[in-house]
Formats: sequence, structure tokens, C-alpha cells
Amino acid sequence: MNEILVAQNLKKTYMDGFSKLYVLKGINLSVTKKDLLAITGISGSGKSTLLHLLGALDVPTDGKVYLDGTDVHTMGERELSDVRNRRLGFIFQLYYLLPEFSIFENVLLPAMARGKDKETAERAHSLLERVGLKERMNHYPVELSGGEMQRAAIARALVNSPEIVFADEPTGNLDSKNSRSILDLIIKLNDEEHQVFIIATHEVSIGSVARRTFCLNNGILEPQ
Ligand code: ADP
Ligand code: MG
Repeated sequence: MNEILVAQNLKKTYMDGFSKLYVLKGINLSVTKKDLLAITGISGSGKSTLLHLLGALDVPTDGKVYLDGTDVHTMGERELSDVRNRRLGFIFQLYYLLPEFSIFENVLLPAMARGKDKETAERAHSLLERVGLKERMNHYPVELSGGEMQRAAIARALVNSPEIVFADEPTGNLDSKNSRSILDLIIKLNDEEHQVFIIATHEVSIGSVARRTFCLNNGILEPQ
């Protein structure tokens, strides 16, 4: 089976005062191994909501998410957090690096649950080298530019060798040159490590670098 992540008739409704806000109205999506896909759509169209559901960070109003054939919401909280930590990676617009830790320590953090061993430290080193931050790994986040912080966040997302990486507006805070180099990095990692990347972005030009692009509009996801 080549499908790694499947969304079936996903719906998400929020209460907006006394009325209901139907954000996702029945999303079907099938993600295969090595996929690099983009979900585009205007601000407020529900991209983050969808990414959170696909990454098991939130619960749908209706519908199912299957990871390798298992309905993620049949898992207990402990199993689910283990899945999030080991099998899924997350990259956000605002990086969320911890300011009191060095770049190297930030990258290492998601692996700490397993104990800090030599192999993990080597993986963190090699990832920092791959994202072009070898010289900066003992620096602190405040000393880095936005593009560098996002590179560090990418290395952190990959430290546990997840099968799927979710990136929510990964270039949203970057200028066009840094945006392009972050995208090139994602394409390279997808090529070389075969990690699945699912990128949510409101920028159509970014969507076009993905192998498959979808547009979220009015609660429905359509292939482009
Ligand atoms: P996007 O990421 O495409 O900008 P979001 O998924 O963040 O869109 O939001 C989609 C819609 O759902 C927006 O109208 C937003 O205000 C609303 N929304 C998001 N999260 C919540 C929430 N927790 N409670 C109520 N409404 C929400
Ligand atoms: Mg968003």
C-alpha cells in the first residue's frame, strides 16, 4: 500500500457566536509516500484547520484521518502523542524555537524523549549541516535571521525522521529570496530523504513548486 495518509469526508465546524461556521465541508485526500503537496487558498479558507486535522493536532467534527490504515482517533492520547512525536513533523510560520536554548539544542529537543544518545546528536549535527547552519549551531535563536530560524525549525522537524512533515505557511515571514531557498531546501529533502511534505500557503507561486497542488475554497479541496 502506497498511501500513507488518507482523509475521508473531513468536516470542521466552529461556533461563531450563535451561528455555525462551516470551515471544512467534506475533504477527501490521499497522500502517498514521497508526496510533496501544497494546499493553497486565501487567508481564512481553512488551511491551518485542515493541516491540524491531518496532523492529528485537532479532532474533526466529522470524518476520519487514517495514518498507514489506522484511524488516528481510535488511538489513545499516549499513542497519539507518540505518533506526533515520532512519525510526524511540524513547521510553522513563526518557527517557535525556544529562545533559551541553542540552535543545536532546539533541534535535539524532539528527540530527547528517547534519551540523548550519540546517534541523535550526530543526526542533529548532520541535519544542521544539510540546512546550511553548521556554523550557527551554537548560536541562540535571537542571533539568527528569519530564514535561518526557519532552517533550524526544519532541521528540528526532521530530527526524529518523521514520515510526514506538515508546514503551515513556512515562508510567511520571509522575503522572496529566503522563501525560495526554504522551498528549494524542502524540495531537496523530499527528493533525497523521501519525506512527505504537506505545505499550506496562501501564496499561489509557492504552491506551484509542489508536485501536486490543491486549492481550498469554500470548504472544499480541489486539485489544481
Ligand atoms: P487559514 O489557515 O486558511 O488562514 P484557518 O484554518 O486558520 O484559515 O481558519 C479558517 C476559518 O476558521 C477562519 O474563519 C477562522 O476565523 C476560523 N477559525 C479557526 N480556528 C477557529 C477556532 N478555534 N474557533 C473559531 N473559529 C476558528
Ligand atoms: Mg493559516
